[in-house]
Amino acid sequence: MSGSGARHQATLAATSFKPVPPAFDFTENSVRELFGANVFGSSVMKERLPRQVYRSLRQTIEAGEQLDPTVADVVAAAMKDWAIDRGATHYAHVFYPLTGLTAEKHDSFLVPDGDGNAIAQFDGKALIQGEPDAPSFPSGGLRTTFEARGYTAWDVTSPAYILENPNGTTLCIPTAFVSWTGEALDKKTPVLRSMQALNRQAQRILRLFGDPDPGRVQATVGAEQEYFLVDRNLFYARPDLVSAGRTLFGARPPKGQELADHYFGAIPDRVLAFMLACEHELFKLGVPVKTRHNEVAPAQYEIAPVFEEANLATDHQQLMMLTLRRVAEKYGMACLLHEKPFSGINGSGKHVNYSLYNARHGNLLDPGDNPHDNAQFLVFCAAIIRAISLHASLLRAVVATANNDHRLGAHEAPPAIISVYLGDQLTQVLSEIGTDVARSSRRQHPLTVGVDTLPPLPRDAGDRNRTSPFAFTANKFEFRAVGASQSISGPLVTLNTIIADSLDYLATELETATGGDPERLNGAVQDLLRRVFDEHGSVIFNGDGYSEAWHQEAATRGLPHLRTAVDALPALTSPATVALFERQQVLSRRELESRQEAYLEQYALTVRVEANVALELAQTVILPAALRYQTQLADNCARLREIGRTGALGLLDEVSQYVDQLQERLQALQGSLAPPAGAAALETADHYCRVVKPAMVALRKSADQLEALVADDLWPLPTYQELLFIR
Ligand code: ADP
Ligand code: MG
Repeated sequence: MSGSGARHQATLAATSFKPVPPAFDFTENSVRELFGANVFGSSVMKERLPRQVYRSLRQTIEAGEQLDPTVADVVAAAMKDWAIDRGATHYAHVFYPLTGLTAEKHDSFLVPDGDGNAIAQFDGKALIQGEPDAPSFPSGGLRTTFEARGYTAWDVTSPAYILENPNGTTLCIPTAFVSWTGEALDKKTPVLRSMQALNRQAQRILRLFGDPDPGRVQATVGAEQEYFLVDRNLFYARPDLVSAGRTLFGARPPKGQELADHYFGAIPDRVLAFMLACEHELFKLGVPVKTRHNEVAPAQYEIAPVFEEANLATDHQQLMMLTLRRVAEKYGMACLLHEKPFSGINGSGKHVNYSLYNARHGNLLDPGDNPHDNAQFLVFCAAIIRAISLHASLLRAVVATANNDHRLGAHEAPPAIISVYLGDQLTQVLSEIGTDVARSSRRQHPLTVGVDTLPPLPRDAGDRNRTSPFAFTANKFEFRAVGASQSISGPLVTLNTIIADSLDYLATELETATGGDPERLNGAVQDLLRRVFDEHGSVIFNGDGYSEAWHQEAATRGLPHLRTAVDALPALTSPATVALFERQQVLSRRELESRQEAYLEQYALTVRVEANVALELAQTVILPAALRYQTQLADNCARLREIGRTGALGLLDEVSQYVDQLQERLQALQGSLAPPAGAAALETADHYCRVVKPAMVALRKSADQLEALVADDLWPLPTYQELLFIR
């Protein structure tokens, strides 16, 4: 069958999709019963564990301590029984390698008993520690072959859960993945370490503000996930979507997102059915999903959870991505998490909402309504401003991927310049603290810390700036530069660590300035805020981040503008970064170097795969279609000439010109592929960025020109129109 036949069939199949029969009845299973039904959470533990064991485990979870090994056997037995009651035959240590994906190693509970029978076995050791034979995960050189093995260790703070499959269920145990030498090989370990650093430093500030024993401070996180849905038949008829996650070719559709008629519009039925099913699955897994809506681009949607503490939010975010993908298949669709599946149409990001929480003091980024709370809030706020200002390049580096490069700075996502949006009110307060400014129109006099009350800050979403990469939104910050398919671990580890380090600095300054005398706190805070604002105020920007004027202004202010991932990734091992992570004991130099190496390799690999897919598609699908059309046209022209008409000649010329161009550019791309011999990771990535990518862009231009010319019945690939508007 010809390619165009496949496209036709895919379109037919897509338009005749039959609704999936309802899988469940929300009137029979209330959301309350559903929520966490598949989680070995505190209520199940309380019910199934002896009281002292339960207490010891809670203690471990709440204090973030190591698990008492004597407790592990008891917990393992209870967990196994609970899982088997729910149909589990296997258990899996789930871990999060540097690829940003989720990896699982499955083992059966059953072991032969020697009498021809089998017994279910799962002890504390199997719970606490596993050994994935996984030397092929990227480690950026951390594991040489002789120490190729790492082990996975249960993260007690993230509960085990059951993953359902029509043919059986699996007990999943979230784990950290470490080398035998103790180095973090994964994305979870650094999150846990960074949370400890943050906790240590934030408590010092709370103590300065008069609470001698504030208890644990945690980062709270809610990540809004954007994604596209495309019919599965059409998806599989696009090898570029299948292998690269994005379209490498495709002319602009006659109608794109110009009309903005999709944004927050009514959700199509099939999509709504999919969303409900996703939410159902996520509820069972204890993931608190809350909102759903259409996004800006056609076929683009968003799902957002209620925030949770950072570690759990990270694991749940991974589960959310998996669930979106799995459930989409059941509804005859493919869920695209790529940052830029379609060129010329908005891409997908992941807005990471971030705040700090303490059980006694609540949300620490809530300004509060009295001078004491205001002062404390301003200190946390200043710590964050200072952190972003000092480590803007690092923050850019942790969102640096080949995919995200297509989105950042493209007038749909924040620019690659990292700045902070505070809003006019808060900026004015900070700028006036400790100065003798003229009376402002809004207030009678500059605010005195610890004496005056902050003016009410706007809470209205309408006042927000959507173009800022890092925006204060009433009682939390929102990091908007994160890519849709990325693990949120990297961004969180970095935020936790740079903020911890800044809090460390501020706490030391305040401790020194007050000399332990609480009476001197307000004055010391006032002086410190003044200094932080003077030194780091240039990172604050409340205007339009998409504008060209800002790019120039940012350059004048000396803010780094790292346009590509390859420009940005070296910040992972800059002296400032290494010193920061070592000071806060989150990552060692070796661990940072290994990450940089692994991410550069991933960058090169991503572009290489794309280039290979582009070559194959252009050579074996697009060029043949164009040649077929060219032949038809040539035949036609010959026949028309016999009757004295030359009308089609111009078209034949044009098609021929692009066919030639396509072939030249195919060769150019082919010839560009090999990086310089012996190139190290950075040089290789740089080659893919500056040589291979432009060659791909050029090839695409010729192909898209042909798509606009070749007869539609000969065009083999589903078009943008079909991918985006059939649902
Ligand atoms: P908005 O009006 O800014 O959209 P929402 O309350 O709808 O605010 O929250 C948007 C996202 O921010 C949600 O995922 C939510 O869980 C998260 N969020 C809200 N408060 C916090 C917080 N204190 N810490 C972390 N994330 C938060
Ligand atoms: Mg959004």
